[in-house]
Amino acid sequence: MKKKTGQDRSITQNWRPATQAIRGGTARSEYGETSEAIFLTSGYAYDCAGDAAARFAGEQQGMTYSRLQNPTVEMLEQRIALLEGAEAARCQASGMAAMTAALLCQLSQGDHVVAGRAAFGSCRWLTDTLMPRFGITTTIIDARATDAWKDAIRPNTKVFFFETPANPTMDIVDLKGVCGIAKDAGITSVVDNAFATPALQRPMDFGADVVAYSATKMMDGQGRVLAGAVCGSEDFINNTLLPFTRNTGPTLSAFNAWVVLKGLETLDLRIRRQSENALKVARYLEQRVPRVLHPGLESHPQHNLAMSQMEAAGPIFSIYLDGGRKQAHALLDALELVDISNNIGDSRSLMTHPASTTHAGLSEEVRLDMGVTEGMLRLNVGLEDPQDLLEDFDQALRAAGL
Ligand SMILES: *Cc1c(COP(=O)(O)O)cnc(C)c1O
Repeated sequence: MKKKTGQDRSITQNWRPATQAIRGGTARSEYGETSEAIFLTSGYAYDCAGDAAARFAGEQQGMTYSRLQNPTVEMLEQRIALLEGAEAARCQASGMAAMTAALLCQLSQGDHVVAGRAAFGSCRWLTDTLMPRFGITTTIIDARATDAWKDAIRPNTKVFFFETPANPTMDIVDLKGVCGIAKDAGITSVVDNAFATPALQRPMDFGADVVAYSATKMMDGQGRVLAGAVCGSEDFINNTLLPFTRNTGPTLSAFNAWVVLKGLETLDLRIRRQSENALKVARYLEQRVPRVLHPGLESHPQHNLAMSQMEAAGPIFSIYLDGGRKQAHALLDALELVDISNNIGDSRSLMTHPASTTHAGLSEEVRLDMGVTEGMLRLNVGLEDPQDLLEDFDQALRAAGL
């Protein structure tokens, strides 16, 4: 008897997440390879002209062109959908391609969007700059205030868009509360879950309609490729997202999809260990700097909410220094082990100064409103021995006068 592949959803959906992360979606070719194959092909050939016509008519199963389907990308899509507990998922070339597609595929001129204030810089560019150019109005709110979502609803509100934990202030949004308000009002909730990943938080379990990812972060997890994904119902993915992405083409390459497939196999291990390491570093820094914002610390104002919807707090958090940009840059410059880098989700520890990097494109007013001050630093804690990280911080903090 042939061993099962990860293609039969009636079987794979009963697997536990650690099994799904390794085997979900796997489709073997006639060679029976154990690791997923990389299908680097842009097109597909047909046995006869009638087959080509039947595939284009949707009467025959099979691939037609890699902007539309690719076997390696489809394996990743099935794996992500399983991990998310979503009916379907589609991959995109980057996290921003995923966010743009998840939003624009369902919005038209005259629609209104409510979005969280603390967000990835480019997500704020979508809501603040791009959408208004096409006649889509947006209201930006403090996403932590659940009532503010209800108050911002207008008759033409189509979408709620937010991330939790949010970049870089670690604001937590009440998933159940906010997604419930959306559901009652017939509004689609779109959650950017890049910081937590399905290993730590599954927004659909709390009522989210659409979950979008930068798979560049924890899913690849080793700082190699850009990738993104959108998860939702079969109906949303097939009838709303696909017409948009198939024709606009933010397609993920098969090679990058393969790298993320390999990354997902160790996601659970990595994110749990990195969460533990981050907590150790955060507890240490709490003794040394004026303020640490880490949802896993009791000192975080939304600690209880965070831990009620996340299994662990993740590898990312922020600290505040009193000495402004000068002291923040001095600390970065003195680090010997931790890299100065604006990426996150890597197995290496990385640190950045959001006001002069990831959030530099926003006005000072928007930055300050979000809590991105000149003395703020964001940290991604990797898989190194935490003792080496503490020793590096100790010497760098002293060099920065702390
Ligand atoms: C990185 C990130 C994005 C953008 O993803 P890319 O893969 O860099 O395009 C979007 N949202 C959040 C929360 C992110 O951290």
